[in-house]
Amino acid sequence: MGNQTCIRTHLNRPPNGIICDARSHLIHQETGSIGWLSGAMPITVIPRNGLYLTVEDIERKIVLSDGRDCCTCPTRLIHLENPLGGVMMPLNELQRIHAYAKRNDLVVHMDGARLWEGVAAGFGTLREYCNAVDSVNLCLTKGIGASVGSVVLGDVNYIKHVKWVRKSVGGGMRQPGWVAAAAWAAIEETFGTDPSGAHAVHLRNSHEWAARLANTWRGLGGRLVIPQQTNMLWLDLDRQGIDEAEWEQVANDEYGLAVHSSRIVTHYRKWRSSWRYRHAQLTSRTETTEEAVTRLEAFMAVMVQRTESQPAIVDAVPRNEAVSRLAAAMREAAELAAARS
Ligand SMILES: *Cc1c(COP(=O)(O)O)cnc(C)c1O
Repeated sequence: MGNQTCIRTHLNRPPNGIICDARSHLIHQETGSIGWLSGAMPITVIPRNGLYLTVEDIERKIVLSDGRDCCTCPTRLIHLENPLGGVMMPLNELQRIHAYAKRNDLVVHMDGARLWEGVAAGFGTLREYCNAVDSVNLCLTKGIGASVGSVVLGDVNYIKHVKWVRKSVGGGMRQPGWVAAAAWAAIEETFGTDPSGAHAVHLRNSHEWAARLANTWRGLGGRLVIPQQTNMLWLDLDRQGIDEAEWEQVANDEYGLAVHSSRIVTHYRKWRSSWRYRHAQLTSRTETTEEAVTRLEAFMAVMVQRTESQPAIVDAVPRNEAVSRLAAAMREAAELAAARS
């Protein structure tokens, strides 16, 4: 709802074109709402570096229009997800894109759902990233753990209109104290009150678990599709000859692990007040993070061993499922980038 109300507020007069990364949440996981809610047509771009969009990527695909060619759908909005797949667009690139947008009378919306993670990892402060765009969506769920909610940022008049759109799509709320309390806990206790992320130790801990799992995977000869920078891993199961469905099934049946596609996300989770329950329980609520991660590592090792003689799966068709499709898009971008360099 955060992204959708932000975009609807920016786009008031069709035709509306949006340019975004081909791997965006907006494209894969938001029910196509930009079509019916904002009457917008997306142009998706595969980043040339395989990681994040640059001004040059955008310039190659954008439709700038002075209104003389009425066949086109002029781009009005640049949509940037940051981080995307756990990988950050550096602040200086974001600032370059914003300057480019201003020169061309465009707005920039940032889907910063997981921006907290990038800030905790030291890529810059919340203030720096949010100042570099016209509007931002920050998720209170995911890594910082509220059960519901997002925060939208923009200037005063903009937010006034966002509230209108929010109300119109059923997002008005009465007695919202319990949601505010969850938001409070998520920001103050999980992320910490310092906008530079200096107190975000819980997030940095989850990045360390992710880094450990990435190391284990590489140590087994596995490859990551894109680098692990924050709390997310994209395992290249295809190259390992591992079928995604089999991966999930063996994890579940033989290891009691609930894995989903080739993506692994590590999250801080508060569970009662015991230190034992600090991280996501992969299986049961009596297991420590260390035990669960060790079991995941054992499962990885067995899967690599079992498939050692199996040829890589070339051009695997993604399953009819969002994360699987997203994984395929990540791989496509990485492969194109590797082929170019
Ligand atoms: C979670 C998330 C959102 C918001 O998704 P909801 O399901 O509406 O909460 C938006 N963008 C990204 C990148 C996300 O990870």
